[in-house]
Amino acid sequence: MAYIQFLGAAGTVTGSKHLINTSGDASGAIGFQVLIDCGLFQGQKDWRERNWRDTPVPAKEIDAVILTHAHLDHCGWIPRLVKEGFRGPIYATPPTIDLCGIILPDSGHLQEEDAAFYNKKKASKHDPALPLYTFEEAQQSLQYFKTAHVGQDIALSPELSFRFVRAAHILGSGMAEVTLKTSGKTRRLLFTGDIGRVLDHKVAPGKVVHSGPAEGEVADLVVMESTYGNRLHPKEDPTPELAALIGATAGRGGSVVVPAFAIERTQKFVFILKHLMESGQIPHIPVFCDSPMAIKAVEVFLKHDEEYSDETRNMIRQYGSPLEWPSFTFALTPEESKKINEVRIPSIIISSSGMVTGGRILHHLGQRLPDPKNLVLFIGFQAPGTRGFAIKSKFSEVKIFGALVPIRAQVAALEQFSDHADPPELLQWLRTFRNRPEVTYLVHGEPAASGQLQDLMRKELGWNVQLAEYLEKVEVNVTT
Ligand SMILES: [Zn+2]
Repeated sequence: MAYIQFLGAAGTVTGSKHLINTSGDASGAIGFQVLIDCGLFQGQKDWRERNWRDTPVPAKEIDAVILTHAHLDHCGWIPRLVKEGFRGPIYATPPTIDLCGIILPDSGHLQEEDAAFYNKKKASKHDPALPLYTFEEAQQSLQYFKTAHVGQDIALSPELSFRFVRAAHILGSGMAEVTLKTSGKTRRLLFTGDIGRVLDHKVAPGKVVHSGPAEGEVADLVVMESTYGNRLHPKEDPTPELAALIGATAGRGGSVVVPAFAIERTQKFVFILKHLMESGQIPHIPVFCDSPMAIKAVEVFLKHDEEYSDETRNMIRQYGSPLEWPSFTFALTPEESKKINEVRIPSIIISSSGMVTGGRILHHLGQRLPDPKNLVLFIGFQAPGTRGFAIKSKFSEVKIFGALVPIRAQVAALEQFSDHADPPELLQWLRTFRNRPEVTYLVHGEPAASGQLQDLMRKELGWNVQLAEYLEKVEVNVTT
């Protein structure tokens, strides 16, 4: 019997990995095995430690990976999978491949830096501390990527094929429609990956990509994300509040520190800042995009204009490349990054990682969190257990590089920039389905979020909705 096994993002929002095994015969032969996403666990330590465990099936026995999008919680374990012996194709859209080409080596670089730091401080119980994978290993894993355009049917084996449909989550994101055939019967499985905003861009200004997720889907079994299952996005335009927050911080001589995913979210935010400056809504203060991949990220962002919303396209047409704007600096070298620490006039510093789990944002927050003049502004989801979650929750202090840093800066969050649909948007999308799936498994959510969405979908749609559990195997019934 074919089955799906949830190897991650079950009971949590990170580590997305769902294995399909076509399996099926009584002789115990291994079926064709496909991994949908191969993400890194982030956040709480007991989840992060699972990054170090082997997959329940040996990596070399996995035949292919289908990657929905280039966020680390969906793609960040790929180099480790390859390190453990995976040699199959990794299918992704062209923008996702371009994004992984900068994100994965950067992730390897960060893993190496962390290991080196812990070894220097002897702060790890592992001696020596090792990186999960290196920059070099991440680069090597890129050779297995293969292009799958949105809408292109790709046969992976005689019984399994798939195609991507639009997810409208981030640049390059797609849902995977998988078709399984056995004994002349066909089953359609839909893996949503992360689902983008359904409503128009006025209430989702962080959204770069056009329109909403693909409508009119047909599926027998759905594996669906539930990140925002228990929260509603504010419906008002966030730009007046954004302008007020920046203006007030600059007025008291402070700086704004924005933890943000380095690609797409950062670029779109930078365009909004430019627009606010040009229209006189905020003062012209220096903006630093501090990420080793900042310049490459702008190039990838500008390259894939086929995915843009009209709003994004208009902004790019109006303002051109951010790399040429005066007073906007894209830091590249560690020396350039450190120089930002010396800036004592009001400025805006955008740096990654978005959930403050690593990267240069740590240095900026380590330096600017203790000063009440400054503002830390969140424009993205913060998973429990991350430093970002602790700061956003206004804990009194947070541990950075082994030291406790007091949180005295102002902390604010604008939820409108989310790239995830909220419950009313999800229902709006689910109502476009042309059939009622036999079963839907919710993944990629904290238990409270998944549980509330389960209740809502049962009540509003009458669907059979289950919560996926870590390592649980569920059968895909292909005989009825
Ligand atoms: Zn995502």
